[in-house]
Amino acid sequence: MIHSVRNESGTGRLQVIAGPMFSGKSEELLRRVRRAKLAGLDVEVVNHSFDTRHGSGVVSSHAGLSITSTSVADLAGLLTHLGDRTPDILAIDEAQFFGADLIPAVEGLLARGITVIVAGLCVTYYARPFEPLPSLMALAEEAVKLTAVCHVCGADAAFHQRIHDSGVGDSQHPVEEHVGGYETYEARCRRHLTLPTA
Ligand code: ADP
Ligand code: MG
Repeated sequence: MIHSVRNESGTGRLQVIAGPMFSGKSEELLRRVRRAKLAGLDVEVVNHSFDTRHGSGVVSSHAGLSITSTSVADLAGLLTHLGDRTPDILAIDEAQFFGADLIPAVEGLLARGITVIVAGLCVTYYARPFEPLPSLMALAEEAVKLTAVCHVCGADAAFHQRIHDSGVGDSQHPVEEHVGGYETYEARCRRHLTLPTA
């Protein structure tokens, strides 16, 4: 479901795609980007350079879909890359890596007339809210919260957990070592979420 890209006032719309790992956030982002390109819109796709799971310069899903993107190291890099251009749509994957400053930055881009699609984790691997996604969801014209499939029982999984501790950083402050896939994380429903008590 994509509504008109711009509001009548000339400002962009904020669309947020949130959920735990393996919930299909990147798939949904890619679907929207492909659809917008079919419609002839000018679409810019950026990913964080932490996410090198499929090489840099590509947004990809666990199911193997991918699209060319620009990898940037941080929010400043994203804004520099964009410059004063005003694409119809800016799609940002792995938005949790850009930190809380992404919120005012996105608001500035919306004011410039750019529709912003943000995809990212809204929960940490300790099942706590993970900014900036929860705030962006609150501020969005449209927000979808996806679930994965619980690795244990197949129920809807709103969470993911680490299979073993990286020993680096903490869940609220992502570092490159936190990036992983099936070897590092599992999707879990509420019943099968097992977190360390410490
Ligand atoms: P995300 O960006 O949210 O991590 P992706 O879009 O990369 O998710 O991948 C979603 C795809 O991952 C699904 O379509 C499915 O093929 C695959 N997948 C693997 N494990 C799971 C799981 N536990 N729950 C749901 N999908 C899974
Ligand atoms: Mg993804």
